[in-house]
Amino acid sequence: MATSNVLAGARVVLPTGVVDGGRVIVDGTRIAGSAPADAPSTDLSGHWLVPGFVDMHNHGGGGASFTSGSVDEVLRGIGTHRAHGTTTLVASTVTGDMDGLAQRAGLLSELAEQGDIAGIHFEGPFISPCRKGAHSEELLRDPDPAEVRKLIDAARGRASMVTLATELPGGIDSVRLLVEHGVIAAIGHTDATYEQTVEAIDAGATVATHLFNAMPVLGHRTPGPIAALLEDERITVELINDGTHLHPASLQLAFHHAGGDRVAFITDAMDAAGFGDGRYMLGPLEVEVSEGVARLVDGGSIAGSTLTLDRAFKRAVTVDRLPVEDVVAAVSANPARLLGLYDRVGSLEPGKDADLVVLDAAFEVKGVMRRGEWLVEPPAIAPQLR
Ligand SMILES: [Zn+2]
Repeated sequence: MATSNVLAGARVVLPTGVVDGGRVIVDGTRIAGSAPADAPSTDLSGHWLVPGFVDMHNHGGGGASFTSGSVDEVLRGIGTHRAHGTTTLVASTVTGDMDGLAQRAGLLSELAEQGDIAGIHFEGPFISPCRKGAHSEELLRDPDPAEVRKLIDAARGRASMVTLATELPGGIDSVRLLVEHGVIAAIGHTDATYEQTVEAIDAGATVATHLFNAMPVLGHRTPGPIAALLEDERITVELINDGTHLHPASLQLAFHHAGGDRVAFITDAMDAAGFGDGRYMLGPLEVEVSEGVARLVDGGSIAGSTLTLDRAFKRAVTVDRLPVEDVVAAVSANPARLLGLYDRVGSLEPGKDADLVVLDAAFEVKGVMRRGEWLVEPPAIAPQLR
């Protein structure tokens, strides 16, 4: 009995390039290399077939917060992003008190164990008060390695990444500690100089948390973190491509320097993503979302995004005119590789999880499959016998 399904006729984006009328074979939860002759076929002609998206920085969606929501709410938030093509998601927390964050780490680690999320990203509290963005200042602290260790331990092996201002006292030692424990050290919400940033990279930091946002600007005598992060081959740069966080030229600059393999699109989404305008809480801070832009009620700082990765994708191709292959890498292969998940997700290759997204010619999501199961079933594309 055939459990295979041949997805045929689409324009498929593979690591080796774009294939017109390509075939991707789904067998159970995985992508297979071949199918039995009688395997049913699903016609996807006129559509793009790309790997499921990997979002390594995401605070919530569907009205739910990963920092404060109940398990059911967190699952709803994950489901909202899945419907927009994100089949692998790292749940991000915002700054809170240490006990609260440790507790949160416990809850999220259970979801990671069940496979609902790929891991936990702690954004704060070890960040700079000068670049705090939408994090509450009174809860910020220096990155004391012992405190960093507490959070990693609370996450029970499920901590993926910690964003920290590496120039603060204890910053470099904390980077080393994270690397020792297999946790990604991300430089962000930082006031570091160019030289301090280089020192952190040499200590093992490998990610720029939302490059350009919450860090000093590129100056003629003060190149700051942006120059150091863009030029170093060891760094993957996160970009929030929602049209609000970045000027299109800044995005182009990042792609020019970090090429096709060091850019990771993230959403940095908060509760309102896939939900709507209104008042929300981001950790302990009140946020007003108006026309899709989230700002702190107090002070007006941008407070995360309402982005979903399908919109970042569509914008990158249709507005920024970036090559589809580079955009696919930025939403799937690059973050997957960075997270150490590329053997399972991040490309449409035999043996990997059958995580994929069907896009129409206008780059709108028409189908989402996760581990062989359609979460969004492509309409009007009926399975047929070959
Ligand atoms: Zn964030």
